[in-house]
Amino acid sequence: DLVPVARALISVSDKTGLVDLGKALAARGVEILSTGGSAKALLEAGVPVVEVGAHTGFPEMMDGRVKTLHPRIHGGILARRDLDSHTRAMDEHDIPGIDLVVVNLYPFEATVAQGADFATCIENIDIGGPSLIRGAAKNHDFVAIVTDPSDYAELLAQLDAGDGRTTLAFRRRLAAKAYARTGAYDSAIAAWFAGQLGEEYPHRIGFSGELKQTLRYGENPHQTAAFYTNGETRPGVATAAQLQGKELSYNNLNDTDAAFELVAEFERPAIAIIKHANPCGVAEGTDLHDAYARALACDPVSAFGGIIACNRTLDAATAEEIAKLFAEVVIAPDADEGARRVLAAKKNLRVLLTGAMPDPAAAGLSVKSLSGGYLVQTRDNGRIAAADLKVVTKRVPTAAELADLVFAFRVAKHVKSNAIVYAKGAATVGIGAGQMSRVDSSRIAAWKSADAATAAGLPEPGTRGSVVASDAFFPFADGLIAAAEAGVTAVIQPGGSVRDAEVIAAADERGLAMVFTGMRHFRH
Ligand code: 5GP
Repeated sequence: DLVPVARALISVSDKTGLVDLGKALAARGVEILSTGGSAKALLEAGVPVVEVGAHTGFPEMMDGRVKTLHPRIHGGILARRDLDSHTRAMDEHDIPGIDLVVVNLYPFEATVAQGADFATCIENIDIGGPSLIRGAAKNHDFVAIVTDPSDYAELLAQLDAGDGRTTLAFRRRLAAKAYARTGAYDSAIAAWFAGQLGEEYPHRIGFSGELKQTLRYGENPHQTAAFYTNGETRPGVATAAQLQGKELSYNNLNDTDAAFELVAEFERPAIAIIKHANPCGVAEGTDLHDAYARALACDPVSAFGGIIACNRTLDAATAEEIAKLFAEVVIAPDADEGARRVLAAKKNLRVLLTGAMPDPAAAGLSVKSLSGGYLVQTRDNGRIAAADLKVVTKRVPTAAELADLVFAFRVAKHVKSNAIVYAKGAATVGIGAGQMSRVDSSRIAAWKSADAATAAGLPEPGTRGSVVASDAFFPFADGLIAAAEAGVTAVIQPGGSVRDAEVIAAADERGLAMVFTGMRHFRH
């Protein structure tokens, strides 16, 4: 299964490692065919190459749209060397075999990411490149296809070990990677094109993302897992640089994403502490240090082993506080020198820096798998502001209540349904997540808040004098009554229940102010 490499075709947009590879191949006696820019770079470095135009007898034309699309190229790549009819065709039409193809594609994704106009994006759709890749990968019995500069070293190592030959196992691995690349490339084009037509976002999907990381295991150790990126450039776990710490796990990635998306909701300095994809404390503050103390106070017991997200550059004073807790991951747009020094002492702590915050209002996709398929929807980028609220009770919320209501509802959007969030002074004081009945979420949040107050030696639970948010309407008055008993003074909820009148009456009876958002934030 060892195939000798006598002739290579090199056509690369990303010229990383090109010259070194060309020199190494030439030194091993490989004849190199190459296209315009690649040939130029090789010739300038003194590597002998044959220009594709000279090989085909056809010039490159139409601004490079037609370079390698010629039977003398594709016949040389696709011919089975073990079939008489194929080798006869090679002889009859004077088609030399091509044993190695090194191609990477026009940078379509990067062109889109730069915000290029329609015509420029179209011009950056590679035509000949994918054909070369797909042909060489199909004929991997005889041809090696290299699409990634990080594989150049192994290619050369194989040639040395195999006396100028590559192994079938290597060529199969390269072929699988090559098809993953052309698949992702066409998905990116399809997604961009659908977007240009203004099609509904769920149709702009490219599932065949690129493998970013093979994970040690999935949600549980008996599950295998991997992390794929879809080409979107939203700042977050997919684009972050890991400053330090152990490898990220499946659960780390999932929870860190939830934490960072939540903290991105807030304009003022804010901290979110997450456990199992639900927040156990969220607060805004005058600075991160203040926000962290207030977020942690909500549920310090659950915060143990949590994930901490910041929406500002992490500073040393906040890092000192974070270092006192056992945390799994810290994610922030950046960390200053002092903070980096403090965190470096916690070797295992994973620190991710994203460079920027994501826009909470930006469009995007959310995908969920179920047996036999995927559910695809636009991400929940709905955001309510004070101006969107409708007061439904006799009492109108005070300015302070109103600010807390908006804060609590923004947090509730990121809590698994049924979600109940108590907040005071732009900090959560009780969170009830993921219960099958809303009244239970309401009770659990109040009960946890009372526990936290007792542990901290406070005279009364944080829910006293707080406000409450519900991610969806109260179907009965019981959930609202439970919140009133916990001491809330104001309520925010979508409204829209057939029993709204009953719920409003229960609020009026207790002197509560209540506002309807008209927008719900289920998160299942
Ligand atoms: P170069 O910089 O060598 O002039 O061009 C290299 C790029 O051209 C590679 O990204 C390769 O995929 C692409 N390419 C090779 N042949 C063709 C072709 O026939 N048509 C088009 N559109 N692109 C090609």
